[in-house]
Amino acid sequence: MRREVANRAKHLCEYCRIPDAFAPDAFEAEHVTPVCRGGQSLFENLAWACGGCNAFKSVHMTGVDPLSGLTVSFFNPRQDAWSDHFAWAGGDSLFIEGITPVGRATVTRLRMNRPGLRNLRLLLSSVGKHPPH
Ligand SMILES: [Zn+2]
Repeated sequence: MRREVANRAKHLCEYCRIPDAFAPDAFEAEHVTPVCRGGQSLFENLAWACGGCNAFKSVHMTGVDPLSGLTVSFFNPRQDAWSDHFAWAGGDSLFIEGITPVGRATVTRLRMNRPGLRNLRLLLSSVGKHPPH
């Protein structure tokens, strides 16, 4: 099932969109609804995630939108479209900007602009592999 989850995600982290082939750490078939909150290990509850996004998301399902201060659900890759909540930002598209409360809360909690991710995006951009299509 791991392979099917990775293929469905086109081998990109479903949160920060880095490709698994260039990530230093193993990707995980992450539970969108965590097991401890009743989530099951079913295809429809799994998302392909880099180790960092998975670790920062942890057992959380909600976060605070830094703009409004509201607590909202995280981006759900099984229900939401990435481009409805996030956009590439900065002249070189090295940053992910949350464009909705859900997007901003997810970017903040998962630290989707970690320095290592920005550096990887810069390198991938130099060989035409960022931003992902
Ligand atoms: Zn990620």
